[in-house]
Amino acid sequence: MSTDAALRARAAKVIPGGMWGHLNAAKLPEGYPQFFARGEGGHVWDVDGNRYVDLMCSWGPIILGHHDPVVEAAARRQADLGDCLNGPGPVLVELAERLVERIPAADWAMFMKNGTDATTACVTIARAATGRGTILLANGSYHGAAPWCTPVPAGTRPEDRANQGRFDYNDVASLTAAADAAGSDLAGIIITAFRHDNVVDQELPSREFAEAARRICDTRGAALILDDVRAGFRLHPGGSWEGLGVRPDLSAWSKAIANGHALAAVTGRDSLREAAASVFVTGSFWCSAVSMAAAVATLEELERRDVVGQLERLGLMLREGLAERARGFNIGLRQSGPVSMPLFLFEGDQEFRAGRAFCAAALKAGAYLHPRHNMFLCAAHTEADIALVLDAAEAGFRALAA
Ligand code: PMP
Repeated sequence: MSTDAALRARAAKVIPGGMWGHLNAAKLPEGYPQFFARGEGGHVWDVDGNRYVDLMCSWGPIILGHHDPVVEAAARRQADLGDCLNGPGPVLVELAERLVERIPAADWAMFMKNGTDATTACVTIARAATGRGTILLANGSYHGAAPWCTPVPAGTRPEDRANQGRFDYNDVASLTAAADAAGSDLAGIIITAFRHDNVVDQELPSREFAEAARRICDTRGAALILDDVRAGFRLHPGGSWEGLGVRPDLSAWSKAIANGHALAAVTGRDSLREAAASVFVTGSFWCSAVSMAAAVATLEELERRDVVGQLERLGLMLREGLAERARGFNIGLRQSGPVSMPLFLFEGDQEFRAGRAFCAAALKAGAYLHPRHNMFLCAAHTEADIALVLDAAEAGFRALAA
């Protein structure tokens, strides 16, 4: 029996479902490991010693590469001093200063642990600031796993999602209608950096849509919340909507902020500073200093290594290479979203059979891909890694053609 299978058998007895949530490997194609032993640079090793070029990057947290030497050294230095103390270390202030320096829409920052903590805090701050209730969310957008936003309703009540309005991403008319329906109760609009809903083609926000969201919030005194948890630091160093020239009032960050260390942040503008100070948000581990030291190092390295540019170069190579090889097999492959956060879906593949077969074959050839979720490149990936992924993809296309 493989080590992975043995661990799964043990986990089935002591972990509900063997593993919770979307990381349950039972939801992945055949052959995907559940358990991993280690990561280094652009690679991960499963517990049976198989090495993969990792295009999931821990579902987003890894941006510089696994086990980055600079980040890990900074984390170790802080760990030697202390991590979880009676209050934060000086690194709290240093990190907040760094974020305020590099993010034009940030006048202040607060820290928590997970993306859901950050999006939830944004909603709470928007309501505290306005004294109103209604938050608008896009249909199909993911903002976390709390009862107010989880896509899986088990264990939640309709009242958990009270005071919400819905609109379609990139649809100005639908956003305007949702704002009209909220009327004088509109507290805020929360929008992901781009449309990266589960199992549909990704879509970048149109300038018109982003500007409309900004205008609606300005004219109605509501807060524009950018959920940059997934895309943050990958598209633009100063916030994902900087390229559009639209600045949010509040931003939620997590995933890549500390290159794999547990950290999330809310940043906001001066107009919401008082409201942010008024809400009660806290967590036992929210001021742990190690992840903050890791974040300071990560932010520095992101800039020093021009990571946004590097991810774009690698992503373009991957996208063009995949398109060319798919054409060679006459296979309809749809690639969407930013090249550094690629998603590919197969034409007419409603049940993801083709996607699963493709990924299973690619996995055997040493590339860890995902059949229906966007993937993530990291700065430690090399051109040789992308070449290996393309060869693995070729194995996948061949499996489909056969
Ligand atoms: N918002 C977005 C856009 C996300 O992608 C995620 C995580 N996938 C979250 C919020 C929630 O983050 P976490 O899982 O860390 O709570």
